[in-house]
Amino acid sequence: MWTEFDHESLPMRVRFGPGRLDGLGAEAERLGLQRVLVLATPRQTALAARAASLLGARHAGTFAEARMHVPVEVAEAARVAAKDAGADGCVAIGGGSTIGLGKALALEPGLPVIAVPTTYAGSEMTPIWGLTENGRKRTGRDPAVLPRSVIYDPSLTTDLPRAISVTSGINALAHAVEGLYAPDSSPILALMAEEGARSLVGALPRIAEARDEALYGAWLCGAVLGSTTMSLHHKLCHVLGGSFDLPHAEVHTVILPHVLAYNSPAAPAAVSVLQRVFGAADPASALWELAGTLDAPRSLAAIGMDGARLGEVVEQVMAAPYANPRTPRAEELAELLDRAQRGLPPA
Ligand code: NAD
Repeated sequence: MWTEFDHESLPMRVRFGPGRLDGLGAEAERLGLQRVLVLATPRQTALAARAASLLGARHAGTFAEARMHVPVEVAEAARVAAKDAGADGCVAIGGGSTIGLGKALALEPGLPVIAVPTTYAGSEMTPIWGLTENGRKRTGRDPAVLPRSVIYDPSLTTDLPRAISVTSGINALAHAVEGLYAPDSSPILALMAEEGARSLVGALPRIAEARDEALYGAWLCGAVLGSTTMSLHHKLCHVLGGSFDLPHAEVHTVILPHVLAYNSPAAPAAVSVLQRVFGAADPASALWELAGTLDAPRSLAAIGMDGARLGEVVEQVMAAPYANPRTPRAEELAELLDRAQRGLPPA
């Protein structure tokens, strides 16, 4: 039962639907942009070229060197490209890595961003930025980095390989799960988290024909992430991804069932929502089973973690405070990570 809560909606303008990328030029015009820099990863240069042609005379240049976790040197190179192009805005077209780079340009020199997500990571819905320097990822919240417009075009996700679709979708689910037990959650966010999680859980097993449903779910889960304080799961993934260079979505996929199992006894309201979503009494086990059915990684070892270094993860997580329904002791964290490392079911 909710007694008292605060709720603040972030400003978000969304254009959703297959083919909506075609309206990119009109969206740039609506924002008054004249010289737009297109951002992408090296794997998505064809898509960047399509965005450039849709922008027509407003296209001022393309920087297709976005990389995971926004290394500071990549952000710096993008700033030089923006300056050389005389850019007054940018289009970030791609996954969380590309949108993260757009956010770096929104911070400095302050360019407005149009985000066109092609994965389910959800960064486009959040005011959270991240930059990685000397192997450490710094993150912060700043309303200035929230994209001014978001175009969700499910037809851009049909090329997303099934394996990335699944891990990226579970990354989005993690936002919903932690939003449900966040200290600053609200009934409105709980509705969004439930609807987002239900869409993704329904879409992932039949992803080829459910791209629109998955992207809709990712939008809602991303919006929950953008409005709440994340807990132990995101903290662990931040350390594992940022300091041990493990792939972002895969880390989320491996860790989430374990943290959900650990937090479940202290988060009954979240568990009852997730019981409805999974149609199962034990959502953590259902999630672990779902990942297995979809051939997603279930062990940290399988995605490159050195088991001898798990103690360093525990130390880093224990060193900085974070919100969580339960306060784990170092031994509990070590046990959780050991199970995740070995691919054991959540306990
Ligand atoms: P990603 O952006 O690195 O994309 C993974 C790979 O898939 C890239 O090579 C990309 O080019 C390719 N790709 C993307 N879309 C594709 C498509 N439709 N078809 C074919 N290939 C495609 O990975 P991600 O998981 O989307 O993002 C991870 C990054 O986002 C991490 O750095 C993470 O920290 C960040 N993130 C930030 C937030 C936030 O709120 N700030 C939220 C979620 C994730």
